[in-house]
Order: sequence, then structure tokens, then C-alpha cells
Amino acid sequence: MLPTRFTASLESLKLSREDKNAFVNRFAGTIKFPTVSAPESFSLEPFHRMRDYSLCVWGEVFSTLEMELHGGASILLKWAGDPSLEPVMLAAHQDVVPAGEKGNWSHDPYGGEVFRDRVWGRGTIDYKCGYAGMLEAVSLLLARGFKPRRTVLFAFGHDEEVGGLSGAKVITESLKTSGILCSSVLDEGGYLYSDPDGGVTAELAIAEKGYASFRLVADAVQGHSSVPPDKTAIGILARGIVALENSFMPLPDVPGEIRSSPWLQTTVAPTILSSGCKENVLPGKAEVIINTRPSPGSSVAEVLNYVLSVVEPFGIAVELLDNASISEPSAVSSTRTLDFKALKTSILRIVPPGTGFRCGVFPAATDSRRYSMVAKNTYRFLPVHLDQRGIGALHSVDESISISDYLRCVEFYAEYISRVSSKG
Ligand SMILES: [Zn+2]
Repeated sequence: MLPTRFTASLESLKLSREDKNAFVNRFAGTIKFPTVSAPESFSLEPFHRMRDYSLCVWGEVFSTLEMELHGGASILLKWAGDPSLEPVMLAAHQDVVPAGEKGNWSHDPYGGEVFRDRVWGRGTIDYKCGYAGMLEAVSLLLARGFKPRRTVLFAFGHDEEVGGLSGAKVITESLKTSGILCSSVLDEGGYLYSDPDGGVTAELAIAEKGYASFRLVADAVQGHSSVPPDKTAIGILARGIVALENSFMPLPDVPGEIRSSPWLQTTVAPTILSSGCKENVLPGKAEVIINTRPSPGSSVAEVLNYVLSVVEPFGIAVELLDNASISEPSAVSSTRTLDFKALKTSILRIVPPGTGFRCGVFPAATDSRRYSMVAKNTYRFLPVHLDQRGIGALHSVDESISISDYLRCVEFYAEYISRVSSKG
């Protein structure tokens, strides 16, 4: 009889230096595939090549788990357990944002270089450490004869950075059609953050913000710039933007667990400004796009009303941009489930001694907003220590992850998978 309970601590497994080097090299190999998703550039070919590579270096995983392909390049892996028990899901997207100007990087963004105890390149944190880390963890568990008591699903979408419509959404629809409802999904979105007092806190995000953009338009009479009126289109719009920046939407009423989250406030940010066509002509119109992230407990409609209340007195019109990216803030997931307990225990086992723990809110949108349609609860965590830039480090130039953080990812996933799949 093979064991169904397994403690995956890398320490207790006494992994050799060679084992750890192999983990890091297999992960670094995934960085070499430019699996970029951007509205202006999207080729499926690098995704196919990364899948071939994965099939080769994690062969045991792909020959043991069932694989389905969705939407062109998304992968769903099923590690079958007792079909009468609820499955549990883990998710990691394969795509990355563009690297931008390569010359600004100190290492090739698609070189997969290992230098000074770090792996460098686009996607190292966001989110190939999750993709490779989960596959490595399954490989580790398989090698030790582990069998999950309940089914574990791995969803690897390929277009999270552009909204997830061909990846996570298609996977979700397929699971729905099969009548599958998971007890929870674990995705990216909580990290290890540096505290102002020098400590480190692990944040497990049990909610995420919504997403909505608005067009603000100020109209005025077009005319000759030598005789400007009291109010110009640009001046009116500028007053509205400053008023928005100087006011805050009231905090929503949310469960106590996330009340101390630093990301709770709904944010409003001007991102695209346009007006005018000639230096001596007063424009008849000025526009700005503002991007907002509605807090859990509020809604896109509430944010619209709030923005209107601030800028309408200036004579500015507001319109919701109706695009694929709009999403309502998520529900707040339960902290009383077996999956949450398995997650919290796993986190506390793998973080460095003295690390704090809190539940929180992820300020950006993830694929989990799609998967949440087939999961009772949604949790977001990755045991990566973000630097001073915080979440800004994810899409930055010189994105990189320390080797110890990557090994911690493998350890965390092995620990969590073995723990959560044994319950139920
Ligand atoms: Zn991501």
C-alpha cells in the first residue's frame, strides 16, 4: 500500500545539491521560451515548444497524469484520486508580458540565466516559478510513491496577461460542462512582503479586486488660442483628474480577516490622456481614460457612481469602457475550510522562521476570476519574497527570482498538494 500522507519538506527529503541544481535548471529552461501574450503579438509556437520541453524534462508527470489541451495552448492536467471526493485545483499561467527593450535588461530576458544565486528573465516570478514549481513538486511526489486521495487538477492557461478568454475561460467552461466543482483553486496573488519594520509577512490573498476603465470627457468651444475663455476643455478635465486624485472612495464593509490589508482601498488611476491637434487651436474636447480597481465589497457600478459624483460638478461626462477586461471584485473566500487550513499550515512550514502571516486582498486581476466559477473558494499565494518594488517587480525590467525562493516554491507545492489532496 503506497502512502497517502507525505511530508514533503526538502530538508527532510535530504535532497542533494545535484537534485537542487536539476530543479533550478529545469525551471530556467522554461524561461527560454518567449511565451509572450500581448494584444499586438501572440504566437502559439513558443507555447508548443515549451510543452514539448516540459513533456521531456517532467516525463513521468505527463505520462502519469491525464492531459487535455484547450484553446490552442492551455493545459489541464488531472491527477486522479477517488472520484467520489471533491477535486482541488492549482493554477499557473504559462504566458508572460513582453520584455520591452532588451537593452535595458542586465541579462537576456529569454536566456534563462542563473547568475549570483538568482534565475533571471521574463516570467521567473510571473508565473513560470508556479508552472515549473508545480510540475517539479508532482514529479517529486511521484518519485516517492505518493498517490492523492482526491483528484488534483492543474490548470495552465496561456493568455492570462491579456484577459484569459482563450485559456482560463475555456478550461473553466470545459470543467463546468463535465459537472466538475472543486473545493478550491490556488492561484498566484499573495507573496512574501517586506514590512516597514524590517520583518517579512506572508500574505495569503482570499479576495481580489475588480477591474474597470472609464472615459472622462470635457467639452468646450473650439477656438483661437489667442483669446482663451475662462474654462478650456483641457483645464476642466485637469480639475476633474486632480479632484479624483485628492479624494478616496469610502472603504467597503468587508470581513475582519482582510480589514488590515494594505490593498483594500479602491484605486483610480489616469492612464491615457488625449486632446488638441494644433498648438494655436483651443480643442473642443479633452479625454482621459482612468483605470480603476474596485475593492472587494464594492462593485463596478458603485465606482461609476463615485467617479460621477466627483467629476460631474466640473461638467465632465463619464462612460464605462465596455471591454473584455471588466470584472467585478471577487467574493471573499472562507478561512474555515480544510483547504485553507492545509494552505496555511503548508505556508507556515516553508517560510523562514519569524515570518508573519496575514490574509489579504490581491490588487490586480488573475485567471482565478475565471476558475472561481468551478471552485467553492479561491486562494492566492506564491512563496516568493518581492523586493522593494512589491508587486511592481512582476512586470519589471530585470525580473528575477532567488534560487532559494524557487526551491521554496517546489517545497511549498509538494507540501500543499500532499496535504490538501489527503483531506476530504
Ligand atoms: Zn501572473
